[in-house]
Amino acid sequence: LYVQGDLAPGAAVAPTLDQSRYLTQVMRLKAGDELLVFNGRDGEWRVSVAEVLKKGVILRAEEQMRPQTYGPDLELIVAVVKKARVETIVEKAAELGAKRVRLALTHRTNADRLRLDRLDAIAEEAAEQTGRLDVPVVDDPVKLDALLDGWEDGRRLMFCDETGGAPAITALTPFSPSPLWGGATGGVLDRQALPTRSRLEGLDHPPRDGEGEGRWAILIGPEGGFSPEEGERLRSLPFTTAVSLGPRILRADTAAIAAMTLWQAAVGD
Ligand code: SAM
Repeated sequence: LYVQGDLAPGAAVAPTLDQSRYLTQVMRLKAGDELLVFNGRDGEWRVSVAEVLKKGVILRAEEQMRPQTYGPDLELIVAVVKKARVETIVEKAAELGAKRVRLALTHRTNADRLRLDRLDAIAEEAAEQTGRLDVPVVDDPVKLDALLDGWEDGRRLMFCDETGGAPAITALTPFSPSPLWGGATGGVLDRQALPTRSRLEGLDHPPRDGEGEGRWAILIGPEGGFSPEEGERLRSLPFTTAVSLGPRILRADTAAIAAMTLWQAAVGD
């Protein structure tokens, strides 16, 4: 369960009213029962139900079960598409390790009205289900042009483009040129060649500039694809790589899942 508040030995943890209802009425927990919680900073803790009150439940932190680790820092930037597809993309981004989901308004976006609180709830539920120790942030929609104008130093942007680009399997892992193909082990994916993530484990803060393998962003365009001006601009920027996900035209949600899966399989956490 994703909770607010600090987790330390003996700390009292107060879930939300909805969560309390879920714990008592759906999971039927009583005083003394135990469950696992995380708050995105202090790792995963075993807690016990200390009190069941009319106005909620009080949990007590007993023991840290998993330390906080910070997987490489991947952002997913996705053009706003149909609401249901955006909801699928947010859920899969949580499962596949994205730290942040940024919604982009591109030249051809037909912006469905999105409910950010619903997207946050989807991200939280998916993080709980997948066993992450943090919940991806979902940002309000911003214009892609403005996002590129204010691009953060040090972050690599792989933009998925069905008109062509580097093969995703090499572009989505921090190697260039990739020793993964044709390296010591011939043409198979050589996991030994992957960067160890030990540099990240034990960090007491999210990876900063240069600390993590993965200061990456993946950009997925709208139903109508990027406009010629957007494609030209994206291909001209020093921090971008055009990435191909193969010969077929994928729907935006399929492309987002395919790209994140490749990245997650190579360097995700
Ligand atoms: N422009 C096409 C169209 O109008 O049907 C395709 C747009 S596609 C539905 C939406 C986005 O998915 C694209 O902008 C691109 O980011 C990504 N995408 C789809 N197929 C892809 C592929 N084979 N390689 C890389 N990216 C792809």
